[in-house]
Amino acid sequence: MVSRPAPAVDLLLVNGEVLTMDPARPRARSVAVAGGRIVAIDADPADLTAREVVDLDGAALLPGFHDAHNHMASFGLSLNEVDLRAPAVRSLDELYAAVTERARETAPDGWVVGAGYDQNKLQGHPDRDGLDRAAPGRRVWLRHTSGHMCVVSSAVLADLGLVDQAVDVPGGVVVTDAAGRPTGLLQEKAQALVGQLVHPYPVSVVADAIDRAGARYLAEGLTSVTEAGIGGGWVGYTPVELAAYQLARDAGRLHVRVELMIASDALHELTAHPDDDLDFGLDLGIRTGFGDDWLRIGAMKIFTDGSLVGLTAAMYDDFAGHPGNCGYYQGGVDELVGTIIAAHQSGWQVAAHAIGDRAIDLALEAYAMAQRRHPRVDARHRIEHFGVSQPGQVARTAELGVIAVPQGRFASELGDGMLNAVGPDRHAWLYRQRSLLDAGLVLPGSSDRPVVAGAPLLGIHDMVNRRTGSGAPFNPGEAVTVQEALRAYTIGSAYASHAEHLKGSISQGKLADLVVLSQDPTAVSPDEIAGIGVLATYVGGERRFDALGSAR
Ligand SMILES: [Zn+2]
Repeated sequence: MVSRPAPAVDLLLVNGEVLTMDPARPRARSVAVAGGRIVAIDADPADLTAREVVDLDGAALLPGFHDAHNHMASFGLSLNEVDLRAPAVRSLDELYAAVTERARETAPDGWVVGAGYDQNKLQGHPDRDGLDRAAPGRRVWLRHTSGHMCVVSSAVLADLGLVDQAVDVPGGVVVTDAAGRPTGLLQEKAQALVGQLVHPYPVSVVADAIDRAGARYLAEGLTSVTEAGIGGGWVGYTPVELAAYQLARDAGRLHVRVELMIASDALHELTAHPDDDLDFGLDLGIRTGFGDDWLRIGAMKIFTDGSLVGLTAAMYDDFAGHPGNCGYYQGGVDELVGTIIAAHQSGWQVAAHAIGDRAIDLALEAYAMAQRRHPRVDARHRIEHFGVSQPGQVARTAELGVIAVPQGRFASELGDGMLNAVGPDRHAWLYRQRSLLDAGLVLPGSSDRPVVAGAPLLGIHDMVNRRTGSGAPFNPGEAVTVQEALRAYTIGSAYASHAEHLKGSISQGKLADLVVLSQDPTAVSPDEIAGIGVLATYVGGERRFDALGSAR
């Protein structure tokens, strides 16, 4: 009896322009995959038997992209909500018309929900009176593109008992007009008031959103994302949000690898043995690192301040043209710092949202105190956004081993509003990249989607080109090279997730998460990066997106 040898590999990708992101072997022509892992690079085809051979025909092959900060469920939900971004909506009149139209299609007791408006691109924030005219008597809830504020109609204010007067909300504001009447605008933690009416969402609804989002991600070359806050606070949809990801996974609807940051509000005191240093966290002592290659618990996410374009970020000096407004913290200093230290002590990676220079100092100081009191090697605490940073803050960040996580795509979609918010004296402090790399920091790539469009090639384009929507230079001294931007969206993001041993480069033994691009991004003019096409996306060696469909 003659037995044939088993195929040595599952997949052999040949004839490609392989950009590995591995300094030891930056370029290659072929990659072999078995058991979901990369097993050989530039192996002699004569030595391999492959179940499937794909001729890349000169296309570029890169590690799959990893968005280090996105809001997956929120993005998936937004696909079914009224789209309030330009160009869908270019004026307040168009915004109100879109509300009227959606109200017509919505059951009388149903909510009209929209997302993505930016008052910098309209003639100001919408207000309750406009919403009441657009959809009389209806519950309308429109979220700002930053996610840090929203506007509601009078019917919603009535549910909250806020028709005639505001209420004090620590870490947030119910905005009123000169007469003290709420305008409908709810900032930061005041958004949780609406949350009380609409949350929790059913797990099945969140799982559907995760499915929709993931399908889009694959088409954009994403194979991993870090979700920046679930399970609590104003960013969470339900206290059992992790169950939505498990449900999606069980049903084969989790399309990309997901790392879940847990909202700080979901963590609580634990009753462990005093020697355990496990006083704070999730039940059972579950913390950062729990899970597997597909679904894993990441950092604790804590908001220290608000939004730059929404003028709620905590700054040392007033916003330009807004005397007396330098933003605010989302909680007392002792509470914020205490939460960060407790999470650090209990073994969590911490990701602190900090946009203003005052908030960045709060986060850095908390990390420094945490390490002084409870030294921990390689904690890799993060500062999300790192929006307006003074020169000394970059050095301090590097010294503390903290990872700054800025969003390149903000330049073209929010850049004009940001330049206005800080004024010329602080332009050079906006969304640094170059000076982070120069200080020896690892730079991840991220979008904060749905705050802005999240396709990685758009983010890479903006990291390199640094221009606003109006074409103005956006702190251009902080531009990085194409290669550096590609590294950010691959190995940089993997590092920020403690996962650089598993993914982020095309190296032997790593997960076979790969993207095929129509062109080598380093070989086109910088203006053309956004126009590069994603031809195919592989996760764990399995082709999960194919632009050519079955024709391939
Ligand atoms: Zn975010």
